[in-house]
Amino acid sequence: MSSGALRSRSRWAVVAVATLASAACAVEPPDVGRLDRVYAPPAEIVRIYSLRSGQTFGGLLDGVITANEQAALLMAFREHASPRRMRSGTEISLRYRSEDEYLRGVDVALTPDETLRLSREPLGWRSELIETPIYIDTLFASGEIETVLWNAVVRNPVLTELTYEDRNNLIDHLDRVFQWQVDFSRQIRVGDTYRFAFEREVRPDGSMRAGKLLAAELVNSGTAYHAIWFDPNGDGSGSYYDLAGESVRRAFLLKPLAYRRISSRFTNSRYHPILRTWRSHRGVDYAADAGTDIMATSDGVVIHRGFDSSYGNSIQIRHPNGFVTRYAHMRAFRGGIVVGSRVKQGEVIGYVGATGLATGPHLHYEMLRGGRHMDPLSVDLPAGDPVPSEDRGRWRDEMGVRVALLETIPGAGPVRDFVAQAEAGTTTREGRAETPSGGLQ
Ligand SMILES: [Zn+2]
Repeated sequence: MSSGALRSRSRWAVVAVATLASAACAVEPPDVGRLDRVYAPPAEIVRIYSLRSGQTFGGLLDGVITANEQAALLMAFREHASPRRMRSGTEISLRYRSEDEYLRGVDVALTPDETLRLSREPLGWRSELIETPIYIDTLFASGEIETVLWNAVVRNPVLTELTYEDRNNLIDHLDRVFQWQVDFSRQIRVGDTYRFAFEREVRPDGSMRAGKLLAAELVNSGTAYHAIWFDPNGDGSGSYYDLAGESVRRAFLLKPLAYRRISSRFTNSRYHPILRTWRSHRGVDYAADAGTDIMATSDGVVIHRGFDSSYGNSIQIRHPNGFVTRYAHMRAFRGGIVVGSRVKQGEVIGYVGATGLATGPHLHYEMLRGGRHMDPLSVDLPAGDPVPSEDRGRWRDEMGVRVALLETIPGAGPVRDFVAQAEAGTTTREGRAETPSGGLQ
């Protein structure tokens, strides 16, 4: 069947990128082996429609096939999806035999990743779900920060073929990986450098379905930070480690929003703009557009979800070891989040708003331990687990491969120097390698 070829995912490394410097990376031709025979379908005429708002799928087919045939077609459709759930704008292709314009089939693009193919056969309609073929490539990029990291990545000439959304996505990945080492909104300096290898799943139209950083390096004020992807269980739930195999993660995300500005810090006394009194601010405020995703900062259980006059819509989550976090002034809760829900670190729980005592859209975030408020920005957060000792051998192999990827990209210098230092134990408690004298910038 021809769709078998569509489903198989080819996997090859494409050096998608030259770099800022002149060193050009060689492009390895993919080894595709012997190709399967392809059945060439007879010539056909395809007419493509886009479902208008208020228009039903049946409405679109009126006059094309009889009501009886529509019923049979919808029955085949329902084997895979609900025809009632089709959004306006859904692309529908009617395929006709070219010699007599007999309708042979209907393709419905359900999502960017799935097309429902309906085929007209002598005994009725048959349906088949076709996965959009994707290929996996690896993107290499490096750069120096002239103003802010965001500009450096967004304007990197190597990344201009990515959509704006995908570039933004990349910055979110970098921010998520390095959040515990470097505060992107405060600590990034002019002259800092970055380089990374990013594995992408790409659709034929060039859009990115998913991606993850394989290895990344950020040199901030002369200190190099590394994050290497490693999946100890091999089940996709891997994590990032520094060159010494220490986790770069902490039990809590530093902030419940991706890459946002802090507008008010934790203090014991400040003037409240609405209450017009001096009172302590027992949390951190993050300015963000209304509707921005709010994430749980750690795994836990929702113990409060409701409205009150000062916090507005707020959620409280109980975490292990006596920690509780609170998220306030939300516009809305994410559907399905109720008291008793178990949430994961990074899971979206609601959206930024200005409910309760708030002058504008922002997130008020609090962290408590044993009932006492703590400053989330200065609390010493428990570290994630290092690479398990039984996986050290595989870790060394895989880290070697990913470090080699990084080293093909012009940047701060050979990563191996840092590996040697990390193994010699000349690292700080956080596991960061110290800058070799004169080695950088
Ligand atoms: Zn606040």
